[in-house]
This record gives sequence, structure tokens and C-alpha cells, in this order.
Amino acid sequence: VNERGRDVVVIGGGTIGCSVAWELALLGASVTLLERANPAHAATWASAGLLMPVTESRTGGPFLDLAVMSMKLWPDMVARVQDATGMAVDYRPNPVLVVAYTDQQVTELDVRYAWQSKAGYDVEQFTGSAARTLEPALGEVVRAALLDRSAAQVNNRLLGKALLAAAQAAGVRVVAGAPVAEILTEKHGAACGARTSDGLSYSAASIVLAAGAWSGAIAGLPRTVPVEPVRGQMLALATATPPISHLIMAPDCYLAPRVDGQMLVGATHEHTGFECVNTPAGVNSLLAALLYLVPGAADLPIAEIWAGLRPGSPDQMPILGRDPDMMGLFYATGHYRNGILLTPVTARAIADLVAHGACDVDLEPFSIERFSS
Ligand SMILES: Cc1cc2nc3c(=O)[nH]c(=O)nc-3n(C[C@H](O)[C@H](O)[C@H](O)COP(=O)(O)OP(=O)(O)OC[C@H]3O[C@@H](n4cnc5c(N)ncnc54)[C@H](O)[C@@H]3O)c2cc1C
Repeated sequence: VNERGRDVVVIGGGTIGCSVAWELALLGASVTLLERANPAHAATWASAGLLMPVTESRTGGPFLDLAVMSMKLWPDMVARVQDATGMAVDYRPNPVLVVAYTDQQVTELDVRYAWQSKAGYDVEQFTGSAARTLEPALGEVVRAALLDRSAAQVNNRLLGKALLAAAQAAGVRVVAGAPVAEILTEKHGAACGARTSDGLSYSAASIVLAAGAWSGAIAGLPRTVPVEPVRGQMLALATATPPISHLIMAPDCYLAPRVDGQMLVGATHEHTGFECVNTPAGVNSLLAALLYLVPGAADLPIAEIWAGLRPGSPDQMPILGRDPDMMGLFYATGHYRNGILLTPVTARAIADLVAHGACDVDLEPFSIERFSS
């Protein structure tokens, strides 16, 4: 660990903050994690835990490269977190079936198949009836489908708890109920700590901003951090055996069968500020989309309904790396709808960058400077 990486304050105790703090502690840093409320409770808790690097990419490019890199790190991260804590996170590879209803959506699937197969990904096209052979619960509305075998899933709630426990076991000091109000700087402008709203100061030579959807709302930041909350409402159905076995991505909803028997139905995308609630319109849209896709789900018991705030960025890519002007300030935010997927690569890259001054991931495309012009 270099001089600057010796003492670190991480702001935010979600999957990103906990995993960065954990990796930093393993590299020998002394880390304090400041969490406004309860760690592992915000978007990390609300998520669906789908890991779909290829299906989440519209085309090739830096996002896909980063997501594929992260996907390769998943099995190792799961093994390490289980070794460190004895906690399971229900990680398992599970292909995703992307389905189409309309002519336009069928064409879009053809386009996806063309670039994904050309790039060497393990994808396969199905007619509607072949898709129903694979997943008999799908309704007649499915006209075509694309199977992406690179996907996986994890129980994000177990993951959040396990990453927190792993960080603590590695020596990270976690302070819950500690909202950071301000980033503190030295006379010459370098970051030197954080002050919480109760007036306590925590000094550190490096600060990692991992405050999810709230990342832009801290005083003392040297620039606008363009992260906005994007609300996602979700629900879970209780089943003995979920009616589907693959992950299913439809035009207006997605379905995820969990190891614990629940089937998740997600999610809305709403720009409604920081109000994290369920609404009749939101829940109604999910239920309508579910019954259109899987008519046989009509009588399954609803186990839970919830909402979360994704940390959205203007180009839907994360903001990673150092601030160009404020020495000692690092960004690990803006992961939007893929923060669980991108956890291992973010943790490793940001921890290396803070501790050693460099990392082996090209973070240039994710620099906050891309929003400067
Ligand atoms: C409904 C829904 C479904 C999703 N599905 C998926 C999916 O299938 N796959 C996937 O990869 N991603 C998914 N996501 C996105 C993913 O959940 C997020 O990208 C990820 O959780 C972001 O992690 P984070 O640690 O940055 O943020 P969070 O988990 O939100 O954590 C940020 C933390 O910072 C704390 N904080 C905020 N301000 C301060 C402050 N001033 N001081 C101290 N602490 C502060 C908060 O209290 C919070 O605990 C989904 C999100 C939602 C909402």
C-alpha cells in the first residue's frame, strides 16, 4: 500500500462500498466505512441479483468489456467471501431467455443475435414454440427468443450481508448511522477526510465515494457528480417450484427463479426523485406484464413487494476512478442497473487504484471527466 492508500474512508455501505473496503483491507489499508443508515440495505438489498453481461449490452464496447471482466471474477469472489464468512450467496450460472412479442422486437432479437454470435458469445435463437418447449409456462404471446448462456444470478441480499461480514472480518471499521455531509480538504485542495452530519470528522488520505444514488448530494465535492436515482419497483411470488427455470427477459418485465423457490418479477424504471415507495401504477404494470407472459402465474401468492433506487448516470455507465483535480478522491458509483454484476471488477480496480496508484482495468471510459465537456 502506498502512502495515500494507507488510511481510507469509504462513503456508502452497499455492495460497492463493502466490496471496495474489503479488498482494500486485504491489501493492507486501514479502512473506515461510513454508512448513512444500515449497510447492505439500499439498492443492494432491492436488486434482482441478475448477472447478464451480454444481454445487458446493446452493442460491444467498454461497458461489455468491463461486465465480461467482472463476470469472470464472480466465481473467485464467491469462493473468497464464503471462505471468509462461511456465508452462502446462492450464486449460480443460469442462462437468460430474451423473448419478443412484436415484429419490431423480433427484429431487435435478430440484431442482438447477429452481433453477439459474431463476437463469439454463446447465444442461440429459438422460435416461439421452441421457446415454449424450453419453458412451458410461457404464453402464446412469445414469438421468438434468444438464449444467452453467459448469464448467472446471485441472492443479492445474502451477498450484501456476506460482503459486509467479510469486510469486517478483514478489519474494516464499519460505522452505521453516519451520513457523510462533507468531504474535507487540505489547504492545497487534496482530500483529507469526511465529516458526518453529527459533526464528527474522519481523517484519511483517500476517500472512496460509493454512496449509490445519493453520491451527488455531498458537500465539498470538486464537481457535479451526475448520479440520479432511478426507482425500481419489484415483487416476489412464493412458489414451491418456480414455473420457469431460466432467467427470462421480456420487453416489459423480467423474471428470476431463485434457489429459495421465490420467483422475482421486476422492475420499473422511474425518474421520481428519492421517493422509494411502491405505487399502484408500478405494481399494476409488473403484474400485467407477468400475466401477459406467464398466464398460469395468476394464482401464485405474492410474497413481497418492494422498491429501490438505482444509481443512474447520464450514459448508464458507472463512474470509476480518481478525480482529476482533487487528489485522494476516488469514484465508485453510478452503476445503474448493473451494480451487482460489476461488484467484483469495481472492487478490484478501485482497491488497486487507491492502494497502489494503478490498476489493470482500463478505467478511462468510466472517468468522471467524460461529463466535463
Ligand atoms: C429494483 C432493482 C433491481 C436491480 N436489479 C439488478 C440486477 O439484477 N443486477 C445488477 O447487477 N444490478 C441490479 N440493480 C442495480 C444494483 O442494485 C445497484 O447498481 C447496486 O446495488 C449499487 O450499489 P451501491 O453500493 O452503489 O449502492 P447502494 O446499494 O444503494 O448503497 C449505497 C449506500 O450508500 C449509503 N449512503 C448514501 N449517502 C450517504 C452518505 N452521505 N453518507 C454515508 N452513506 C451514504 C446509502 O445509505 C447506501 O447504503 C437493481 C437495482 C434495483 C433498484
